[in-house]
Amino acid sequence: MGELRPGREYGLKTRLVRGGLKRSPNGETSEALYLTSGFAYDSPETAEARFKGDDDGYVYSRFGNPTVVAFEERLALIEGAPVARATATGMAAVSTALLCHLRQGDHVVAARAMFGGCRYVIEDVLPRYGITSTLVDGTNLDAWRAAVTPQTKVLFLETPSNPTLEIIDLKAVAEIAHKGGARLVVDNVFATPVLQRPMEYGADIVVYSATKHIDGQGRCLGGAILCDKKFLTDHLLTFIRNTGPSLSPFNAWVLLKSLETLDLRVRAMCEHAAAVADVLAREPKVKRVIYPGRPDHPQAALARAQMGLGGSLVTFEIDGAKAEAFKFANALNLIDISNNLGDAKSLITHPSTTTHFRLTPQARAELGVTDGMLRLSVGLEDPADIADDLRQALKML
Ligand SMILES: *Cc1c(COP(=O)(O)O)cnc(C)c1O
Repeated sequence: MGELRPGREYGLKTRLVRGGLKRSPNGETSEALYLTSGFAYDSPETAEARFKGDDDGYVYSRFGNPTVVAFEERLALIEGAPVARATATGMAAVSTALLCHLRQGDHVVAARAMFGGCRYVIEDVLPRYGITSTLVDGTNLDAWRAAVTPQTKVLFLETPSNPTLEIIDLKAVAEIAHKGGARLVVDNVFATPVLQRPMEYGADIVVYSATKHIDGQGRCLGGAILCDKKFLTDHLLTFIRNTGPSLSPFNAWVLLKSLETLDLRVRAMCEHAAAVADVLAREPKVKRVIYPGRPDHPQAALARAQMGLGGSLVTFEIDGAKAEAFKFANALNLIDISNNLGDAKSLITHPSTTTHFRLTPQARAELGVTDGMLRLSVGLEDPADIADDLRQALKML
């Protein structure tokens, strides 16, 4: 009772609430939390059959756990992906999605505007294993085309990008990848599966940091990789089982409960972010507002087509450099200074001294990250209060 029937189509909100639900004989309304590392077998014959793969029961929570599987199934249903595998963090998802199939001699093309950890994996970790990369301006399709070589196995991107919220054409880049015999891997954290499902545009693999909007309440880390069944059996499954980036059942349970409200939270955050972006755009001490939902965004039409809404992040530049940005952040009363995002609480970060401080000044300039730039993750507070806090802090400048 209450579980989704296979083969039947359900709306997104129904999948968010009931996808992957498999009730125990006790009939609990909420998802059961199987907080266990291992599983006992009723006989050595059963143990043997499970290890051989003749019996698909559980073996060990690094391999699989009923609560984690419920989270994986729910996420796959939301995304419209054939399968999902959960990981302990978003970075475990990114590094696993790359390392599980790339080998020496392979080449990766990635959009330059990338989460710091992703850039480290591609620029620092992969070369140690003989995997090279080329970074391109993700919005320039000719640059993608020019960078693909016969050795290219992966095209990697984030859209919207961090922190400059550039929008990349998923369908066009997927076509370039497939023409070159490569896979497109999309880090879909900023858009969330509520606004954008990259597989609908041809992406082969989608990765998430569930730490962000999926939990969205600042409680736990998590991640996920979504792919087709062939990629799972050929590459991902054995790699995950033996390298161990597995998600804790407790965190999977928290994330399952979070998914129930994901649509509500993300839509409310987008509404608040749109209102806050408009307020900031009218402020004389704000030089520039970047928000994919505003008509003055350079890729406004693409953002509308791909994401529908503008997202929950607003990036803006104040009139000044680091000293003014710090003065502004110090003057905030309600909005927290934090590098996290997608949280119920509004959070602000100064990318050039935090998330992007490791980059050279030249690399920051290439990305358009300036010292007067701030990235605001708009939360669920009353948008009028968020706007008031920003306005009173701008007055201090
Ligand atoms: C946060 C984030 C990650 C990493 O996720 P963790 O859960 O912190 O490991 C990867 N990509 C993007 C775009 C992110 O915002």
